[in-house]
Amino acid sequence: MTWHATGKCMEPGKMQHPVDGRAWKNFDTKYSNFAKEPRNVRLGLAADGFNLFGNISQAYSMWPMILTTYNLPPWLCVETIDVATGQKFNMRAMVLWTINDFPARSSLSGWSGQGYLACPTCNKDTPSVCVLGKIAYVSHIKFLKKPHKWRRSLEFNGEIEDGDPPRKFNRDQIQAQLARLPMRVKGKHSSYGVVKIKHTTKARQDLKMLGIRSGLWLGQTKNGKCSKPQAAYSFTPENRKKFCQFIKGVKLPDGLRSNFKHKVTDNDTNITGLKSHDCHIMMQRLLPYGLQQYLPDEVAKPIIELCSFFKQICSATLMEDDMLKAQSKVVDILCNLELIYPPAFFDIMIHLVIHLPLEALEGGPIRPRWMFPFERFMKKLKGYVRNKAKPEGSIAEGYVAEEALTFSSHYFQDVTMKFNRPDRNVDPPPLTCQFQVFRSICKSIGLRSIIRFDTQELKKVTWYVLYNSPKIDTYRS
Ligand SMILES: [Zn+2]
Repeated sequence: MTWHATGKCMEPGKMQHPVDGRAWKNFDTKYSNFAKEPRNVRLGLAADGFNLFGNISQAYSMWPMILTTYNLPPWLCVETIDVATGQKFNMRAMVLWTINDFPARSSLSGWSGQGYLACPTCNKDTPSVCVLGKIAYVSHIKFLKKPHKWRRSLEFNGEIEDGDPPRKFNRDQIQAQLARLPMRVKGKHSSYGVVKIKHTTKARQDLKMLGIRSGLWLGQTKNGKCSKPQAAYSFTPENRKKFCQFIKGVKLPDGLRSNFKHKVTDNDTNITGLKSHDCHIMMQRLLPYGLQQYLPDEVAKPIIELCSFFKQICSATLMEDDMLKAQSKVVDILCNLELIYPPAFFDIMIHLVIHLPLEALEGGPIRPRWMFPFERFMKKLKGYVRNKAKPEGSIAEGYVAEEALTFSSHYFQDVTMKFNRPDRNVDPPPLTCQFQVFRSICKSIGLRSIIRFDTQELKKVTWYVLYNSPKIDTYRS
């Protein structure tokens, strides 16, 4: 429990744990009495609603509160461990932050996640504009330094942008705002988590209304029907099919994602049913390769940059300098995207990306603070429900039973338990083959099949074996 004081990384600017973030350091400076005792507990409070009954009852949701401790090293941060020290001390605990998804954040904090001022960080200065039927969070050029060539451009919203970036509000101002907030009814907004492609008719009308990108305005065919010009950001039907086939054919290590083969529809035109973790894998690993081939360079480039930004910010170790650079980079990326997509594309989820690097500077790496472990835990809780008339009771009983079983399993020997069960993927022992190229520790899976190489393939295989065999170096020269 004292890892945060004894085992933390000492390299300046490197962030591996919340202890390296500014929020932790500021707290220590402010409450030095608390910080003096390393056994005092730092907690994160996670809350999210989930529906136990799937589609049967949309109205019912359960909101478990999960406490996680940050005193432990990063590889144990989301597990619960009891340590008996045998020493007497007055243990105190503080809640470092709460962990929520965006709709739960607005339910619990009271700051609405909809409307003109949806962004809690930008607060009163949230850059937003009303387009047909919705509010778009555009004008990210406000975050650019003055002067900047993009601020004079009419391509963004038809006007020159002279506004300042959103102000930083101090503690007293935020407290005063909190005192005035009305109570909000908790619940999930139905549109969250649904990925929509924003090239609807309304999105095109917005462009005409703002007087930008005239090439994409709606037109009329000779028959008097409405025509929608093909936008550079949307796939042509053939490329869409090829992209889906690419996703279908991709092979990734076991456990990294669900099977994408089953997510692509039968006619290879759509990808459905992706879980949030799949979306991360898709964005960080697959999109950069897939888009490069099927979209024009000027469209693919900012999307690929956004993908690498996510990959960078989700890594286990962050550097402070990198995050400062990423902050200016992400503004450029969003501005570039504004030049490609219609304003209707920019919902609040796209805007919130702009705050991630500075949040990482405050809180440290993202992994101990993101929703994934808690979503997994809630799935586990869902599995405890046997009696659907009493779901909360089932969960409580199931949890206690699991705890008791885990505890008692420490006393069994020669029995297979979760602690001594073999892993799902066990590497076989290294082969004793003398020839280096065949000394691999791979394990074959699935049925064995015999493949016959054609001449070309045989040539490649022969080349590979000879090239990777240092033993024949003398003969080669
Ligand atoms: Zn904002």
